[in-house]
Amino acid sequence: MKLRKILVLVLSVCFLLTGCTEKRAEAIGRLEAQQETDRHEMTTFAMDTIMDFTIYHEDGEELLIDAEQEIRRLERLLSITMEDSDISKINKNAGVAPVEVAADTMAVLTKGQEAATLTHGAFNMAISPIVKAWGFTTDGDKKVPEKETIEGLLPYTKEENIVLDGEAQTAYLAEAGMLVDLGGIAKGYTSDAVTNILREKGVVNALISLGGNISAMGSKSDGKPWKIAVENPLDANDYVGLLEVRDKSVITSGGYQRFFEENGKRYHHIIDSETGYPAESGLLSVTIISENGTMADGLSTALFVMGLEEAASYWREHKDFEAIFVTEDGDRKSVV
Ligand code: AMP
Ligand code: MG
Repeated sequence: MKLRKILVLVLSVCFLLTGCTEKRAEAIGRLEAQQETDRHEMTTFAMDTIMDFTIYHEDGEELLIDAEQEIRRLERLLSITMEDSDISKINKNAGVAPVEVAADTMAVLTKGQEAATLTHGAFNMAISPIVKAWGFTTDGDKKVPEKETIEGLLPYTKEENIVLDGEAQTAYLAEAGMLVDLGGIAKGYTSDAVTNILREKGVVNALISLGGNISAMGSKSDGKPWKIAVENPLDANDYVGLLEVRDKSVITSGGYQRFFEENGKRYHHIIDSETGYPAESGLLSVTIISENGTMADGLSTALFVMGLEEAASYWREHKDFEAIFVTEDGDRKSVV
């Protein structure tokens, strides 16, 4: 059997393991008086994934409930499977009429559109009919679709046919047969929303993990940065490195997170909208580290589609985030 090895590449404008905006003395000062008894934890299941929360605060139990309620509220708006969600309403009205949506739905769609523009279509919320054909939905039957099926669906995946009206707060899919899916960005948005709520309520230190979409607020109770493991895409029990972060989102996309095998070949859930097939970019995973969880989520998906070279040139152009790419060894390329 061929032994598969991985290669890890880090793109960072500062030394990633310490963080750029550290105010360590200040953080430790705040934490000195804090008791480990202020630590409150919860695990729940929402948005099709396991969510873990750790909050340091004397009102931690109440705040955990607030966090969960916010997640359920956003799930009811953004879910593609819940019948009455804003997204289901938009999809049911494809080619029929614009739908008035909640401010949060509008905000996620607007961010998704921004991600699509920035990444020249690598991020595409309209890819959903193809995602569905591959069976990558909650109750989907996973299979390789016929080539004709994919070709027939591609015309219904044009991102520019998602029409948003910020003033009227409406969203409209211009063609019947289109479907919008926020799976590539909704968890990042939700982690930002929960972080903001907790911050407003006085939380300084917390770790929120929405199925691996992590928001690390402040630091641990001893004042040390949160340590976040970046998974080894080839081995669920291993990791490729530990990140030390404060007040950052750490979001990973990878083909290893959701896939099936047919005739000995692996097919995963991140689709290249140019082909309608799972992106074969040579990357095993992309981790984005940023203060903005929503954009980190959009970018992790998009940069995975782009592949290493295009992703590296995107990073060089923007440099407002840090990134870790895991590729298969033997594919080493000079990127910075
Ligand atoms: P993530 O785990 O954030 O990379 O998101 C993956 C999910 O986003 C998939 O399960 C699909 O629902 C959706 N998706 C797949 N391909 C794309 C794409 N090219 N652009 C945006 N969303 C996508
Ligand atoms: Mg994403």
